[in-house]
Amino acid sequence: MGQGRAVACRCEELIPDDMAHELAGYLERLRWILWGYKTGGIRDWEYSPPKSEEEAPAPMAAQTVERLLQISSELTGCTRCRLHSGRTNLVFGEGSAESSLVFVGEGPGFDEDRQGRPFVGRAGKLLDKMILAIGFDREEVYICNVVKCRPPENRTPHPDETATCSPFLFRQIEAISPRVICALGVSAAQTLLGNSRPISQLRGKVQFWRGIPLICTYHPAYLLRSPSQKAAAWQDLKEVIKLLRT
Ligand code: SF4
Repeated sequence: MGQGRAVACRCEELIPDDMAHELAGYLERLRWILWGYKTGGIRDWEYSPPKSEEEAPAPMAAQTVERLLQISSELTGCTRCRLHSGRTNLVFGEGSAESSLVFVGEGPGFDEDRQGRPFVGRAGKLLDKMILAIGFDREEVYICNVVKCRPPENRTPHPDETATCSPFLFRQIEAISPRVICALGVSAAQTLLGNSRPISQLRGKVQFWRGIPLICTYHPAYLLRSPSQKAAAWQDLKEVIKLLRT
């Protein structure tokens, strides 16, 4: 594969829908594995080889990828809670394992369930803009959710579902060890903080999750419904920038 050349997957045009979704899940996992090899320092590989010592991957990143792959493999075919019955694809999370910033949402929606990737629908497009606004590309941050399977009709995950799935989220965050966490919406904020206070009381100040600064803000889907709150969300994102610069 040539450096910088993107190859679009058109498998859904060639094979039935159900097989395409399964294949998309395997391709997503393969993407992770190949990325892990790359960050692990494999040189005999034409795809983006490091050009200098400075560009060589950090061993820590390879360890993080290994830990994420381990967590991901433990979730393969997961039936630990009732949400498994309605999923098309489990949505583990994606992004840079070395990222200083992790975004945590509530759970996959329709588009995410279909594609096996977090925040790819309309709300995801808005999140992409929010990420760009604070100076990152989507690939430079890490994005995941509290629950990895889509709740029916996009309902809020039930407390027992959150309690069952959130230990995997906590391990993801611990593996990445970011400098800042940004909780998108009340479910993510309450799960990370272990309380049931409204988002209006959780945002607007720096919170902490296991010693890591945590900023709570509105979920992009809520911002699409309530654009007047975008200014408040921007204040939260400015706090994220400030924390990353300290
Ligand atoms: S939501 Fe989490 S715990 Fe429940 S089935 Fe999916 S991966 Fe397993």
